Amino acid sequence: MIRLRILLPTALLCGFTAMQAQQKNHDLGYDNTPQIPGQTWRVHDDKRPHPPKVAPAAVVGQPPADAIVLFDGKDLSKWVGRTRTAVTEAQWKVENGVLEVVPGKGGIMTREKFGDIQLHVEWMEPADVTGTSQSRGNSGIELMTRYELQVLESYEGVTYADGQAGAIYGTWPPLVNACRKPGEWQSYDIVFEAPQFDGEKVLKPAYITVFHNGVLLHHRQAFIGRATHARVATYAPHAPEEPLSLQNHGSVVRYRNIWVRKLKGYDQQ
Ligand code: MG
Repeated sequence: MIRLRILLPTALLCGFTAMQAQQKNHDLGYDNTPQIPGQTWRVHDDKRPHPPKVAPAAVVGQPPADAIVLFDGKDLSKWVGRTRTAVTEAQWKVENGVLEVVPGKGGIMTREKFGDIQLHVEWMEPADVTGTSQSRGNSGIELMTRYELQVLESYEGVTYADGQAGAIYGTWPPLVNACRKPGEWQSYDIVFEAPQFDGEKVLKPAYITVFHNGVLLHHRQAFIGRATHARVATYAPHAPEEPLSLQNHGSVVRYRNIWVRKLKGYDQQ
């Protein structure tokens, strides 16, 4: 009896200490759990590196700490002009913190090149927008200067479905029409994966995920190539990184708060 009385609290104490030690250890993971299929890591692997910290902006939609700001309302220093035949100085108007398409002056293209990105763009149709179908407030977000996410006045304007605002031009209409009225600012939040080529062969198509004013338009939808009017889009191989361009289609569309985050490397964790 005496022996039991002495042993029991000791056993409890030992058990508690071991449990505590075990809990403490496992706060930071395990080294004896099974491997996650398709990964080099165990479940809750204690050696798995943590993702880098990124300070988000105080206001959602503003650039986080690791973003490359392409237009902050001040100037076009991150851009050059783009016509069918030449690269020029960017000739769009910057006024009151807003970037404005100048009809007849070509598109604009970033100096920097990008592959996989997260992209935020805000755009606005003119309050007094005129025209019909593809002539009504047409512009576009041209990923890698090729893969167009359509910008158009589609709150009231009507055109073919795969050419309305938010369409992957010539291929996929948006899942829904989330347009705001002309004269109101709208946002695109985009995740784009660059295509991969082996010579002429497409190893992986380009993919895009798009939120329009916070509403999902495309969920990792594939581009079947670079679209041209009234033809089936096709791929022509290009570099892994290319500039981003904004389209000049002759309509006075406005842009502001454009920023991008490079995603390369974040999928290796
Ligand atoms: Mg367009």
